Amino acid sequence: MNTATLNKDAIKNKYAVERAKRLRSDGNAQYQRLEDKFDDLAADPYTPLKPRDPVKDHVTFAFVGAGFSGLVVGARLKEAGIEDVRLIDKGGDVGGTWYWNRYPGLRCDTAAMIYLPLLEETGYMPSERYVKGSEILAHCERIADQYNLRDKALFHTEVTSLEWQEGSKVWRITTTRGDDFTANYIGMGTGPLHVAKLPGIPGIETFKGKSFHTSRWDYSYTGGNKDGAPLDKLGDKRVAIIGTGATAVQCVPELARSARKLFVFQRTPSSVDERVNHPIDPEWFAEIATPGWQKRWLDNFVENQGRGIPSEDLIDDGWTAIARRIREKVFALPPEQLNPEGMKAAFEDADLEKMEQIRARVESVVEDKETAEKLKAWYGQLCKRPCFSNEYLPAFNLPNTTLVDTDGKGVEAVDETGIIANGKHYEVDCIVFASGFEFGANFQLKSGFDLKGRGGEMLSEHWEDGLRTFHGLQMRGFPNAFMVQMHQAANIASNITHNIVDHAATIAQIVSHAEANAFAEVEPSAEAEAAWVELILTNTGSMISSPDCTPGFWNNEGQGWDKKFKSAQGHPGGAGGFFSHIKNWRDAGNFEGLVFRNRE
Ligand code: NDP
Repeated sequence: MNTATLNKDAIKNKYAVERAKRLRSDGNAQYQRLEDKFDDLAADPYTPLKPRDPVKDHVTFAFVGAGFSGLVVGARLKEAGIEDVRLIDKGGDVGGTWYWNRYPGLRCDTAAMIYLPLLEETGYMPSERYVKGSEILAHCERIADQYNLRDKALFHTEVTSLEWQEGSKVWRITTTRGDDFTANYIGMGTGPLHVAKLPGIPGIETFKGKSFHTSRWDYSYTGGNKDGAPLDKLGDKRVAIIGTGATAVQCVPELARSARKLFVFQRTPSSVDERVNHPIDPEWFAEIATPGWQKRWLDNFVENQGRGIPSEDLIDDGWTAIARRIREKVFALPPEQLNPEGMKAAFEDADLEKMEQIRARVESVVEDKETAEKLKAWYGQLCKRPCFSNEYLPAFNLPNTTLVDTDGKGVEAVDETGIIANGKHYEVDCIVFASGFEFGANFQLKSGFDLKGRGGEMLSEHWEDGLRTFHGLQMRGFPNAFMVQMHQAANIASNITHNIVDHAATIAQIVSHAEANAFAEVEPSAEAEAAWVELILTNTGSMISSPDCTPGFWNNEGQGWDKKFKSAQGHPGGAGGFFSHIKNWRDAGNFEGLVFRNRE
């Protein structure tokens, strides 16, 4: 494919037309929360709720979230000799996203060698380049077992308040289970995508058949299990799935294989590129897994996503391929075009070529011409979450599978017996909502609690005009509190694990220093926090995808980013810039910008 032979204007016009169809004035307000709408559908289908007495004690470190963040921070604290760590999670066990998401076909699109944390520490070799969700969940359990992170954990428990106690210099924590305990330090790692959402369509509560969100998969209804057994109870069922994002791309092939009839309701098609998976060869692994290997791989991934020429591409996955393609186009520019406009045009050309390939792939796989046309994504590859699958497109060749394209409008309504789209009623036995998770909502709304810091200041007030952190991790006025998230840090969405592993190292170093010196408090100075925010705001790169893109959660539903949203950007030097800054900061060992205080 060569851009010289493409009618770029025609393609860009088509992008604009498709975007306009999908744009809605209600933005994020078009959705409703699963748990607000249906208590029973939001309940945990995997682990029975165990009655227990409320906890009223004290721990050194309490961490909200038992997903990758809680597990890695907990592990690093234990390695640093801090035994008294408590994880708190609304799920019934560890795993976070991998606890909740167990739908059939689930895998991670990031190579397991860099996505699974603590591979060296646990001595675990991933079985494949892209591993199944069940293998990731088992790895979470492995970390919890190795570091004994379940002993003090509180599961099926949601934090309701976190309040700094100025007199005793501890945090007071209350929960939905009546717990009321204190901790010297707190951490939050609640993840960006943990509040399941449903389309805000009328009649959704009137459906009399079976329905569930993909993050609450009901195997007792479908048959099968999270390890990949066939969905053997669907042979006589008409199933509808609403949504065609990264989740649906993975579970549609499984549903298509098993259901009597499958209707896939599409508002915007995903771009679906090929996935090159393979088993990991133990001999190869033994050769490369020399001390420090995972850190080298993590750094190599960042290097391959960066702006310079990488020495090599160890990972060689869908994400590094995207970056390589763009880089090659930019570096091929003649010197006189190596300016922002020239680079933007080169990026655009690389993207148009790739998307033409992806659209051609649909045509070559999907036999029905009309269906193939509707499955073509008319937007830039980084406008929406790129998907990778060799099974999604062929599923539409099965006689029991029908694509119901809604031409950007979405499904109209649900009634007692089925779904209405394009003015037509589709009678079904089961509706699977693959409608995603809240992304744009602020921390307090998503997590369900606020932090009350020194002098009663709430975190929501501190962040009223946008995020204010030091290194994305600590906030002035909220002593001994750590926020494990990607904003104002590396912002590397394609391998969120790296953010977590790096933040965990910083937290362990700060807490070890405070403990070794018997400091009661640590927080950033007001100046250090302000300077960090100022640096973040110099980032002129777009948020993940531009408002001109087809709407979706990556671009705030096409509503654009105000200053408040811009404060959620990453370091202006990109992930590499952040990681090298923070490494130098840690290596300096003088904790510049932090204030440690003794008990008065
Ligand atoms: P998404 O938010 O990406 O997708 C939700 C889907 O629901 C979209 O296709 C959306 O359409 C559709 N939708 C919403 N409202 C309606 C409506 N009224 N009618 C019809 N369709 C509707 O959620 P996912 O769960 O798919 O993915 C969330 C994220 O989780 C991913 O972006 C990724 O980061 C992560 N993930 C990663 C995986 C991996 O590594 N392989 C696998 C799965 C998820 P529209 O596009 O028009 O908004």
